[in-house]
Amino acid sequence: MRYHNITKDDMLNGDGLRVVLWVAGCSHGCKGCQNPVTWDIHGGLKFDEAAKQEIFEELKKDYVSGITFSGGDPLHPFNREEVGTLIREIKETFPDKTIWLYTGFVWETIQKLDFMPLIDVIIDGEYIEELRDVQLKWKGSSNQRVIDVKNTLKEKKVVLKYWD
Ligand code: SF4
Repeated sequence: MRYHNITKDDMLNGDGLRVVLWVAGCSHGCKGCQNPVTWDIHGGLKFDEAAKQEIFEELKKDYVSGITFSGGDPLHPFNREEVGTLIREIKETFPDKTIWLYTGFVWETIQKLDFMPLIDVIIDGEYIEELRDVQLKWKGSSNQRVIDVKNTLKEKKVVLKYWD
């Protein structure tokens, strides 16, 4: 897996102050994407042990609520396995920190991924420029959903964390 950035004390990509991993690789090609530089799976830097430790150092801090995976698409087929491994390790080491993940795939196509029960919130779906609304919370266009993953898996139907 490759990545473009690790941002810290981020307040724009989920509840609280978060560390955000911006992975490389996205195949959705949404019109109006803010981050086309992240589409190339060969772009950015190799995600290595030092990058992982940088994230873990952030998660050790009491005031950090958790990690958000963004990109690019963390669930690009090229990224899934390594993102899953990282999620498992984070949850094992920091069970109280929350995990949010942005993906261009819709929930119905990703719900069976084996690491899904470890995620707290998924923001799903491609960005649709015609449905853009800057008032929306945690998402760019109104087709996207901020999904409460644990309750969605429990209820066996999509439960939203926020309504707009
Ligand atoms: S899914 Fe996100 S990163 Fe990928 S093209 Fe769409 S808006 Fe851009």
